[in-house]
Parts: sequence; C-alpha cells; structure tokens
Amino acid sequence: MKYISTRGQIDPIEFQDAVMMGLADDGGLIVPQSIPNVKDQLDSWRELSYPELAFEIIRLYVTDIPEADLKALIETSYGEAFDPDVAVTVGVGDLYVLELWHGPTLAFKDVALQLLGNLFEYILAHRGGRLNILGATSGDTGSAAIYGVRGRAGIDIFMMHPHNRISAIQYQQIASVLDDNVHNMAVEGSFDDCQQIMKALAGDLDFKKRYHIGAVNSVNWARVLAQIVYYFKAVLDVQKTTGSSQVRLAVPTGNFGDILAGWYAMQMGLEISQLILATNENDILARFFTSGEYSMGKVHRTLSPAMDIQVASNFERYLFHKLGNDSARLCQLMEDFGKTGQLSIEIGHDGVVDSKLTAGMGSRDQCLATIKKYQSEYDYVLDPHTAVGVAVAESLGLDGDPVICLATAHPAKFPEAIRQATGRDLAGHPDIDKLTELPTRCQVVANDIEAARKVIVDTIG
Ligand SMILES: *Cc1c(COP(=O)(O)O)cnc(C)c1O
Repeated sequence: MKYISTRGQIDPIEFQDAVMMGLADDGGLIVPQSIPNVKDQLDSWRELSYPELAFEIIRLYVTDIPEADLKALIETSYGEAFDPDVAVTVGVGDLYVLELWHGPTLAFKDVALQLLGNLFEYILAHRGGRLNILGATSGDTGSAAIYGVRGRAGIDIFMMHPHNRISAIQYQQIASVLDDNVHNMAVEGSFDDCQQIMKALAGDLDFKKRYHIGAVNSVNWARVLAQIVYYFKAVLDVQKTTGSSQVRLAVPTGNFGDILAGWYAMQMGLEISQLILATNENDILARFFTSGEYSMGKVHRTLSPAMDIQVASNFERYLFHKLGNDSARLCQLMEDFGKTGQLSIEIGHDGVVDSKLTAGMGSRDQCLATIKKYQSEYDYVLDPHTAVGVAVAESLGLDGDPVICLATAHPAKFPEAIRQATGRDLAGHPDIDKLTELPTRCQVVANDIEAARKVIVDTIG
C-alpha cells in the first residue's frame, strides 16, 4: 500500500514514511492510494479477538513492516493497557453503546495513540534518529498522546492546549505527567488557535526537517487506521447479537477523525447502512452535510469540549474522496476556504451531500436531558460527548437497523456535566480520583506562532 497527499504534490510513500510525516509536506493530508474491499472476508473475522481483528485490518494498509513485527506491535498496544477490552458493546435501552474508554486515559483516543506510540518507537529503533511530536489538544488527545509516548527513548512531545479552556480533570491528566520528554504548553487562545500554530510550524518544512517534527493529531494517518478496527468489531458483534445484517452508527464528532474511520470501514465493505454524525452547537459539519456549505462560525464553549471545533482537520480527507480523489479541485476549494472561511459543493439529486451520512446537532439542553434519561431509566451514565451522539441518534429515530452509539469518554472525566444533568455526583473512577493529589508542570505561552516555536527550540537546545 502506498500513500499520497490530498493536495497531490508528494510522490507516493510507504506507511512508515506516512506515520513520520504526519501532515503531508505539501500541506495536505495523507491518504491511502486505494481502499481495500474485505466484504468476502467478513464471515471469517466474526470470532476474532480485538488484536486479531486489528492485525487483519491493519496489515492491509501496512506493507512495509514485517508481519511478525506488526503483530507484536498490535498485541503490545491492545494488551493490558485496556481493561477489560478495547471495544466493549453493551445494550442500553433501545440502542447499543460502544464503550471505547477502557484505556489508560479513559477516552477513545487511547485506542489509536497506544498503537501510534509503539509505532513511533519501532520506526525510530529501526531507522535511528529522534522525533519531536507537536500536538494541539482540546482536552483528550493531549492526555492520550502523552500516555502513548511518555518516557519513550528518542521522543519528545510538545502538547498545546487552550489555556483555561479544558476541564480541571483534563488539565490534571496532562500536566501531571512529569516525564522529562513531556512538555505541556497552555496557549492563550482557542483550540483552533492551537491547531493553527501546529499547522503553521508543521507546514514550515525547514523547521519540520531540522527539528524532526511529527504529529499525533488525527492528521496522522495511523490514528484513522487504528480507529477503523473498532467499527468492524462493533458491527460484527451487533450483527451476531441481533441477526440484523445492516447496522447504523452514531458518532460524536469534532475533528472528523473518528467518523472518517467509520467512513473508510464502510468503503471497505462493512455493512453500515448509515453513519450519524453528531455535533454540539459547533455545527459546521452538521451544516455541511445538510446544505453542502462548509462555513466557519464562532467557537461555542459547550459541555462537550472535545467537540468545540470549527475547522475539522480530517474533513479534507473526506472532501478529497468525495471529489473523486481530484487534488486540483480540492486545492481550489481549500484555497477558497482559506480566503473566505467558506467553501461549498453541489449536493446530489436526493438533496443531501452523502446518502450514507446523516448529520445532526445536539444542543446543551438535549445533552443534559439525555444524560438524565439514560441514568434514570437505564442506570447508565453517559459522558456529555456520548450523550450528544445518543441525542442525535434518538432524534432520527431508533426503529429500523440497530444503532450503535460510540461512547468516546468515561463520564468521570466530566463530573460537572453529570452533576448538572442529574443533580448528583454519579461519575467516579479511581484513576480520576487519584489525579487531584498529583503535582503538575505546564507553561503558559502567548497565542503566537513564534512564541510556540521558541519553546520548542529552547527545550530541544
Ligand atoms: C476527540 C473527541 C471527540 C471527537 O472526535 P473527532 O475524531 O475529533 O471527531 C469526541 N469525544 C471525545 C470524548 C473526544 O475526546
């Protein structure tokens, strides 16, 4: 398998180069040159464990790592770090919840970042050299990325988050990791500002090469790839329990990384009848899928901060495929967007952008009402991100093909939302309770590209 850029200006590269490149050198996103179809293999995959299934899927996209090594990497990543398993499907009321928060930081991002940490270490061990990871986090990516690479030889991580705009627990989780290779930066701006700084520095090719800058955000293809696996796991599990051949999935969405993995799974032949994209009040994507207009609004702060995003970096991958892999058209549209803050595509005869992808917005009130309902009716506590997905799925109706809602975080990470919804402190987790005691380290940085650059240069020396 070879990889190309959405902007069409890099020669095809192998998987390991794609992982190390992060953002493509031409400013685009790295995508596989083709998408394998596995429809005929699905039956033989139904009884596989998570690591076994991961190996079958990931090997299709990784042809430059010997299979035995790849298998070992996957087994290490999806072993004891996840308790009891990586992806756990449970029936709750009239739908299924796919719990993806059984990893070390209690959010679904661990699934991709445990593997990515191991991949980085493996690649550096074989090729030599160092890696300086530059990341931007709206909360959960940061901790999952930091836990993925803490203490690893040859790797430093610089993680930017919007100062005072992540939850107290998210802050404790990232800033309490005191390993020497972990550098937290609180940027005086929004998450989009952090992402902007990251893109500017990673897009400065001289700087990127000289300082060996790599990416852990979902611009990194390996993250999307790792996430494809749990769509297969969940759909195969629910097909088995319900006997239904087609399944729908609802995905709480911010940067479009998670749902994009579902979209790839669908292209690979997995029987998904509908992907339901759920946003909070930051609904740029929901508006796009209902109108064909992608236009930036202002960032709202919500109870689901990991989804408080206006410019979704992975959207470019979807758009590229949607345009029939036409880089020239994509470049034109991205240029429009850069200049005017909006772009638009024609919508189909059926009046929608994508007949397999329905989008909706879950408001703050719907989020709170959904947490309350699931707690009182089913004794199940949803985190506020998951609740947005469940609310949008419910508003579309649960009759018909079974619906799986992706549970992206453990509710204990967002106790204030749970308290607001239920009036009680129902969301505890021993790992979270431990955090408050721990010392922290973090530096505040101006909302400025040069200020961020200086921190990196000064730290690396
Ligand atoms: C990151 C995150 C999301 C959004 O996922 P994207 O891949 O950015 O769309 C949703 N919920 C939680 C808890 C997250 O951490």
